[in-house]
Amino acid sequence: MNIIALRRAALAACLAAVSLSACSTSKSDGSLSLASGNIDDDIRLGQEEHPKILQQYGGAYDDPKLAAYIDRIGQRLKAVSEYADIPFTFTLLDSEVVNAFALPGGYVYVSRGLLALAEDEAEVAGVIGHEIGHVTSRHGAERQTATMLGGVLGVLGTIGGAVLAGDAGAQLGQQLGQVAIGGGLAQYSQSQEFQADKLGVRYLARAGYDTEAMGDFLQALQTNAELQARLNGQTLGSGGFDHFFSSHPYTPDRVTRARERSDERGASNSERDRGRFLQEIDGLVYGESPAQGYVMGQEFAHPQMRFRFAVPDGFTLRNAPTAVYGKGENRTIIFDMGKLESGTSLTRYSAKDWADMGKLDDVESVRLESGLDAAIGRGKVKLNSGTAEAGFVAIKGRDGTVYRFVLVTGSFGSDDRRALLSTANSFRQLSASEAARLKPLRIQIVEVRPGDSIDSLAARMEIEDLPREQFITINGLDRGHELRAGDKVKLLIRK
Ligand SMILES: [Zn+2]
Repeated sequence: MNIIALRRAALAACLAAVSLSACSTSKSDGSLSLASGNIDDDIRLGQEEHPKILQQYGGAYDDPKLAAYIDRIGQRLKAVSEYADIPFTFTLLDSEVVNAFALPGGYVYVSRGLLALAEDEAEVAGVIGHEIGHVTSRHGAERQTATMLGGVLGVLGTIGGAVLAGDAGAQLGQQLGQVAIGGGLAQYSQSQEFQADKLGVRYLARAGYDTEAMGDFLQALQTNAELQARLNGQTLGSGGFDHFFSSHPYTPDRVTRARERSDERGASNSERDRGRFLQEIDGLVYGESPAQGYVMGQEFAHPQMRFRFAVPDGFTLRNAPTAVYGKGENRTIIFDMGKLESGTSLTRYSAKDWADMGKLDDVESVRLESGLDAAIGRGKVKLNSGTAEAGFVAIKGRDGTVYRFVLVTGSFGSDDRRALLSTANSFRQLSASEAARLKPLRIQIVEVRPGDSIDSLAARMEIEDLPREQFITINGLDRGHELRAGDKVKLLIRK
């Protein structure tokens, strides 16, 4: 959950789905025909959507120096594009997910997760060049944005096609997770991807970067998607974790074609800028940030908002910008936060303010083990394709904050009630010192010493799962880089 997203969530109305007429009439040689439609419409649309994107993806990463660096790379590429005279906005998103995308009219986004994976400036430039290519080609990706901003209630209403068999909760959880993290940017077509790759290579060449970086980074994305699938106990393609590819269809063919393209162009200038890049990302937060909170096994803790809770065994937690999901076998627990108007009782709040979800029955007041006051109830949840059942707990925090748990399932039974209450009872506020102990992972750039090996360096990383594989992936050792004394490498350290 992101603190910025939550602060703004109260203001955000439900987003209407924006549908753009994709009006690219580019020729097969990659030259552009900009005749159809009006770029001013694109710019206006981008301006409208930009704040919503920021909210949906957890806001901009709070590091002005790094943001300025990304902007410099972007402006350098934009200046050699067909839209050199149109202002572009390049944003570094505070998202651990490896992702990049563009809005029409010159809004380009790169996640900090993507920076962590890149080996040098040219690879980042390749991704940004690709996104600029979508903008200049006016691919205009139709967006389905009505996702998280209405809170849980809004989400439940927007999930289409949720199958309400016995495993409604599980299906719903999976879909919610994908919507929440994937963000609902629609796919480009494969031919649009090839075209954006081609334009990306063109801008790289014109700006003086090594054009091979495009193919290199596409390969890194593929390797990383496989690693992330492994870390999540999935096989590639089953999970929706490869977000860059979820909006930019990937085929191994893209690597080959990007490489051929760069050969054609003869990589005369071969600027990679590895040294400067590594210096810029030294200290970059990796994985979840203190502004988003941390999933630690069955526990979720948020150091900035100062609370924690745990879900029972059998639930898998997933953190998203405006909610936290605990996915169980046939059910899903959803956590988010709301605001209690002064003078409104918690039971009234649950039955009225919170319940566009459906009518709540049997709302009662309870005192939790933590001593916090709560209201509990149950009711039907409306989905596009029908209804499910859910139990609700609203916990009263300080200053009108309400902490909310919902357990959604096909048919809400006593075991569901136990799981929900156990979760609510585990909820605690954190002291300042408890919160201070929750530190994020950060990228630390270190020099390889004589005698260092992949294993010795991987052992210095403060991560439990597959440290060797993660070290190899973030350092590109699976794609041609070799470990040499005197070189700089990335480690993941908690501080
Ligand atoms: Zn793309």
